[in-house]
This record gives sequence, structure tokens and C-alpha cells, in this order.
Amino acid sequence: MVPPFIEPIYVTRPLLADKENIKNKIDEIWESKWLTNNGTQHKELEKELKKYLRVENLSLFNNGTLALLLGLKSLELKGEVITTPFTFPATVQALDWNGLTPVFCDIDPQTLNIDANKIEALITKDTSAILGVHVFGNPCDVVNIQKIADKYNLKVIYDGAHVFGTKINGKPIGSFGDMTMFSFHATKLFNTLEGGGLTVKDEKVNERVKILKNFGLLGPEEVVLCGLNAKMNEVQAGIGLEVLKLVDEERVKRDKIKETYENNLLNIPGIRIITILKNEYSSYQYFVIEIDEEKYGRSRDWVHDELEKYNVFTRKYFYPLCSDFEWYKHLASAQPENLPQAQKSVKQVLSMPYYGELELESVEKICAILKKIHSEISVDNQYQLVGDML
Ligand SMILES: *Cc1c(COP(=O)(O)O)cnc(C)c1O
Repeated sequence: MVPPFIEPIYVTRPLLADKENIKNKIDEIWESKWLTNNGTQHKELEKELKKYLRVENLSLFNNGTLALLLGLKSLELKGEVITTPFTFPATVQALDWNGLTPVFCDIDPQTLNIDANKIEALITKDTSAILGVHVFGNPCDVVNIQKIADKYNLKVIYDGAHVFGTKINGKPIGSFGDMTMFSFHATKLFNTLEGGGLTVKDEKVNERVKILKNFGLLGPEEVVLCGLNAKMNEVQAGIGLEVLKLVDEERVKRDKIKETYENNLLNIPGIRIITILKNEYSSYQYFVIEIDEEKYGRSRDWVHDELEKYNVFTRKYFYPLCSDFEWYKHLASAQPENLPQAQKSVKQVLSMPYYGELELESVEKICAILKKIHSEISVDNQYQLVGDML
């Protein structure tokens, strides 16, 4: 018998900076009387994040979605962009707002990222770019994606909302492709309440991005592009500077939590852990499992609802598939038979509670519940068998 948790356990909790430090920051900002438009905090955060992410060019935004939307705009793309159906709606909506048509590509069964082996078959004369998502912190197959892009002269854009601080063989994630978007939303490893960043390889494109996020203004009286207002303000940036100080410690805590989950979920049939890559690469953004109904005995949806009875609130990231959205499902590439792996994974994934403050004992208890569910079913099945024989 495992009793429910007294307090609800959520899938994540935001990384909160010390309140005193935040108060001091606010005092500083108030004294400066400069609340937005590239103020002191903004400049400082940009500098610190360039160092942390080890990138040359970086623009800060009021959220990740607008960073991606304007990043795409800065590349002046046309026609079709090959992307994944297994992502947060923002990825594909950023294409839509640029008048670009998504072409959905199936996903890799291990990482759940766009399957680089399936991209080439989807390229047409209208294809202008590949938009990959580093899902749950596992990097895409960046080498093969770049090879395909070079062969067909395509741009490569990454939605890196989940990969703050990730490296591939020691190389920072932001150094791959033409640009990478980061999200600093409250639920992400590093947050500025709401916020985002865009790192861009080409210096000229980077200048265009900075103009685009400020109404297309080149100077106070010169409008050169059809931009938007997507600037990060001073309070967001100031809070970001305080949160950044906590990120490394948070990573250490999440590493222990990850290890505890891994040790406790090891021998439960039908449960596969997605976050499989070595620590060096990990962003510690999510801890996700796949539940194989046949082997585990219950469906993902059933487990999600059952865990709520124990006061544990998991999330079905990502569900539904973007290719199933009402306004895409007529597309040839959106047809379920073209996306067998995505169709399978979308029914199996479950994002488990994962944040530094989560106690290891709670993790053990959550795993015990998952074990209990499975063993009860195994016993049920035996009774069923006996019943059948009688
Ligand atoms: C969070 C997220 C976004 C959106 O970022 P915002 O900063 O909330 O706009 C985009 N893509 C993915 C994969 C995300 O997880």
C-alpha cells in the first residue's frame, strides 16, 4: 500500500532566485529609470549568456516563440520547411506565421527527434530549410542533417528550447546549424519568467534579427524591415542574471534525481527511459519515460490518470502531434501512415516530475507506485489465466 502524497507533486517547478537579491535588482532597475530597450541588465545578461552558451552572437527576446518566429523571418525563407510533428505547437506555429508550409518527417525511435534518414525523401524544389527540435534535451543528428542541408542548399534551424547548456562531444549546442532558439520560460531549466534567446551563425543575419525584434527600426526614424516588438525587458533580464547563478547547482540536483529514477525504474517491464545520453550532453530539462501498454499492462493514459490519484501530476509531452492539428491534417506529410513512429511514441510518452527541489524519497515513491501498478496487473493476469482454465 503506497499512500498518496500529501502535497501535490507537479511535473516541474520554476527555478526561483533569492527574493532579497531580486529586490536589490528591482531597486537597481528603478534607480536607473530604464525599464526596457537594451538597458544595463539586458546587456549584462546577453554577455553572461554568450559565455555560458559559448556562442558568438545572441539576441534576447521576450519569449522563445518570437525568437524562433523572427529568426525564421530573418532568413527570408520560402515554400516548405521539413520539420517534426513531435514538438510543442510553437515550433510549427512559428513556420505558419512566416507563411511557410511544414512538411512533417517521422521521428527516430531512440531520441524521438526528427529522423535524419527520412529527411531526404521529403525534399522538393520548394524546400528551403530543415527545422529540427532537440527533444527533451537529446540533440538531433546534427552531422547528418548538415550534410543533407549542404547537398541541397537548405538552411538549418534548431528549436533548442530544451537544450540550455547541452554539448555534443564538448561542442556547444548553439554552434550547430544556422541558428538555434532557446526558451527561458518559467518551466525551462533556465528562466527569465518568460523569455528567449536566438543564436545566429551569420553576422549579417544576426543584425537583421536585432532589427526585427525592435519594430524593424534601424534608427529612430528609419524603418527597414517589417518587424515586431519582441524585446526582453530589464526586469526579465535582471531576474535572469540571478537565476543563471543557480543553474549549475540545479543541474547537480537534477543529475541525482535522474540517477534515482534510473535505478528504480530499471526492472519494470514496458518502461523505457528516454533521457539516455551521458551527463555531459544532458540539459536536465525533462525526465521522460515511454510506457509500452502490452509489456507494462496499462496504457500511458491510464497511468497518467492513476498517478493523479496519488497526487502526482505528470504531463503528456508531446501530445497531440502537430501533424494532427485541424489545419495541417490535410497535408500529405501529416497522414498517420507516413509517421508511424511519431504515432506510436505520442501514445507512450510521459514526462515525470523533475526539478531540483524534488526529494529523492519522493522519486523512489513515484517509482514504487509504477512498480505496484505493474505487479498488480501481473497478478490480475494470473487470476485471469486461472479463471480461463477453470
Ligand atoms: C517551451 C517551448 C517552446 C516555446 O518557448 P516559449 O519561450 O514558451 O515561447 C518552443 N518549443 C519547445 C520545444 C518548447 O518546449
